[in-house]
Amino acid sequence: MEQGRITGVNGTARPYRHRVHWVLVVAAICLGSQATEAFAAGHRTQNFVIEAPTAALARRIGDAAEQYRHDLAIEWLGKPLPRWSRPCPIVAQVAPHLGAGGATSFVFDTGEVFNWNMTIQGSEERILDSVLPHEITHTIFASHFRQPLPRWADEGACTTVEHPVERARQHRLLIEFLTTGRGIAFPRMFEMREYPPDVLPLYSQGYSLARYLIERGGRHTYVAFVGDGLASNDWASALAKYYAIDGLANLQNVWLDWVRKGCPAPPAAVAGMPPRSLTITGTTRGQSPDSAPITPSYEVATTSGRRSIYALQARRPGDSSSPAESVR
Ligand SMILES: [Zn+2]
Repeated sequence: MEQGRITGVNGTARPYRHRVHWVLVVAAICLGSQATEAFAAGHRTQNFVIEAPTAALARRIGDAAEQYRHDLAIEWLGKPLPRWSRPCPIVAQVAPHLGAGGATSFVFDTGEVFNWNMTIQGSEERILDSVLPHEITHTIFASHFRQPLPRWADEGACTTVEHPVERARQHRLLIEFLTTGRGIAFPRMFEMREYPPDVLPLYSQGYSLARYLIERGGRHTYVAFVGDGLASNDWASALAKYYAIDGLANLQNVWLDWVRKGCPAPPAAVAGMPPRSLTITGTTRGQSPDSAPITPSYEVATTSGRRSIYALQARRPGDSSSPAESVR
């Protein structure tokens, strides 16, 4: 029995918001003992079994989960997922000031995926507009790829379906990380199948890169690119094939340039840009001391007019945006 993929279960005090746990062979997942008393009601849908504090909440979460499962599968894969043979349990802790977060675990075995488990927490609106679509996207990717993805590609893509407030927060964090030496060099990031100790930069950088690639080629191309890279383990070739970018170092450069410019809609072709030295600061031991660090001259991209196509907007009265739910 291999349990090497288990990295713990999200809790309220963890410094990250979302985790997905790949378990290659059946292994015990401890969800903790808190899951019994606080949940007063359950609800069953075609693909989910929800435990939540009230029956109404369980129903709303279940309905939203089914809707996201259908809509997001079409967004990413071009078609809905077939019904799962067994439903995915969702345990939801819902309270107005509860930090938003979630964890999803599942088992890969001989090309199949099963034994879903999802725990989510947060305010109702944040669960419905960010945590749930994020975690549902993990299940769509697991159902499609049937194997673990590089963490940046998984978490990054899942973050692109969160509410704009959450995505803007990731962008602010990215700028902070890039200007304080916490960026991750792309060759290293592409190899990461586990969460690094300094996990937050992986989320924000993965989100930004996923967004960049999706804005260039769309979600279907992103899925095809990831699938190709997984199959060949040759990400450079996959990059060239789907994005006409020559190598990870060049991707890093064009992405950084895009971030510097405030993340504009990318040009139709950025391939062929002359390679430059890596400029993610402080990430590569032995990095040339004269490589130019990123200057903190960014303008944080606003999210006005960039509403999540998935967000259940009606559930965000006033949109106070509580940035207090920031890094934990
Ligand atoms: Zn996640």
